[in-house]
Amino acid sequence: MSSSNVPIFTLSNGVRMPSVGLGTWQMTGDQGKTVIRNAILSGYRHIDTATLYQNEDQIGDTLAELFAEGVAKREDLFITTKAFCHEVAPDVIEEALRSSLKRLRLDYVDLYLAHIPAATKECGNHRTNVKVEDIWRGLEKLYDMKLTKAIGVSNFNENQIERIMKIHKVPIQASQLELHLYLPQKAHRELCKKHNIIITAYATLGSPGRMSVVGADGNPLFESTKNAASELNDKNVKALALKYNKTPAQILLRATVEMGIVVIPKTTNPDRMKENINIFDFNISKAEVNLLEAHEKSKPERLFWWPNVADHPEDPFAVERSK
Ligand code: NAP
Repeated sequence: MSSSNVPIFTLSNGVRMPSVGLGTWQMTGDQGKTVIRNAILSGYRHIDTATLYQNEDQIGDTLAELFAEGVAKREDLFITTKAFCHEVAPDVIEEALRSSLKRLRLDYVDLYLAHIPAATKECGNHRTNVKVEDIWRGLEKLYDMKLTKAIGVSNFNENQIERIMKIHKVPIQASQLELHLYLPQKAHRELCKKHNIIITAYATLGSPGRMSVVGADGNPLFESTKNAASELNDKNVKALALKYNKTPAQILLRATVEMGIVVIPKTTNPDRMKENINIFDFNISKAEVNLLEAHEKSKPERLFWWPNVADHPEDPFAVERSK
């Protein structure tokens, strides 16, 4: 399949970012190699990983094979990775990115994100003197060194983004956050529009396979909300799926891209992989997107909480936690 029908979004520095990528959280081991090969063969040109996912080496090995076989070229791919909380402080972030590049067997990534705005030594051992402004200075240095084509943030709240946009030399180019029908993130979308920041949504499908994760110290790294309603069962989503002869997942993904937001659905299943990228052979109207957004949920439903940073001064969810 050709990837040419996937719309490309342009970051503020001109870097081109495919609007559909493959999420890789929970993809590990040798399975990862088959998954990445299938993804490239199915037309994916954008892969989202992170140190936390422990799969950069499988991704790197597979990409190296595909380059050697002439199946894909480095310059046609968009690879994102992320510095986790113990890697975001400015004195350690260069080493973190160089280690990721080594595992990925690449000279540069296309997008490097601070995974979370709260710096720690290891899980639970906070570096409270590291502010988001310091994290950003570290990322700017890596950008100047051309180790990454673009830099951005993940799980930063609106206030933290505004603080960076007041002191930046290089503006924030991308923001990745939990965003789905029942957590529409309207304030974040407005802010990113104002600053010309491209949003990537995670958990667009409601992350049905999500689980809580425990850190190396045995304490919870992040916890997921249990028994949340699934957008895959939303009645308006199902009605549009019927109308267009598509699956609920395809409706959710297409509607999100229609909002100008990049999606990175994760799957290791080859059929779903094709399904999740084949979403541009039908048209969904603005009125239909609005109808999906006008669902019956009165309260936003966050699925991912990060207890390990709850008492950190840069906890991005402090306001939400207090509600
Ligand atoms: P998601 O993409 O909403 O959901 C993935 C789950 O949906 C998997 O269990 C997958 O199972 C299933 N699935 C995939 N395609 C489907 C389809 N067509 N129909 C029905 N079920 C389907 O959630 P996510 O993995 O949590 O988020 C996506 C990506 O965002 C992650 O993989 C990761 O790259 C990134 N992420 C980033 C952060 C961050 O802090 N920045 C946090 C979470 C996630 P199968 O694999 O069995 O198909």
